[in-house]
Amino acid sequence: MPLEQEDPEPAYKRKAYRSGILTQAWQKTKEALGRPKFEAPNDPHFACPYDSEHWVDYDEESGHWFCLDHASEWTGPRWYYRLDRLWRDFNLEEKAEYVEGIPKPLRHNQKITDGDLLSYFKRLDGDYVKVSVLKDIFGPTPERLDGLIKVNETDTSTTVISSSYLRRLKRITGKKWGQERAVGENGEMLVRFYSVGSPVSDDETQDMVEEPSR
Ligand SMILES: [Zn+2]
Repeated sequence: MPLEQEDPEPAYKRKAYRSGILTQAWQKTKEALGRPKFEAPNDPHFACPYDSEHWVDYDEESGHWFCLDHASEWTGPRWYYRLDRLWRDFNLEEKAEYVEGIPKPLRHNQKITDGDLLSYFKRLDGDYVKVSVLKDIFGPTPERLDGLIKVNETDTSTTVISSSYLRRLKRITGKKWGQERAVGENGEMLVRFYSVGSPVSDDETQDMVEEPSR
């Protein structure tokens, strides 16, 4: 199965390397500065979303509000630490992902979302699995009586799942998907789902262009 590629951390997530001396220096600077020059309006957007103890101040030159603690502790250009930007990042990092339940497709003729379909088949990709277990993965349960995907456990003259799911996977991944029936050593019905080829993404097109020609 393909391994997940971890994205490198964006620059704003990189904490600046600071020795104890620098930390002390920042604390001294804070003390020396006294309170921030401007009093922030009484609105959550004018406090640091990550830590309400952080000092925020208005910068007259640029006309923007900044988090002074963030600007001191983290690497990257100063605009990363505008409150406007920090709030957007905060919502993206801390609030964006829906975690309250299992998303359902909007379309009434679909029972599984594209996201779930992809998540399950990425893990199945390339492995032989028992059809009986596949039915446990996708079939009905007391909580989801209609199941996620209809699994054909008995009729070997036809495919294990409808090819419409493999067409959806092709649309989602850009790769062609197939299913192959097989049989286990004790006569168990097996099936293997597999993706073929690599999707042509913008990144890969760029790689191809950048590759030196011989
Ligand atoms: Zn802050």
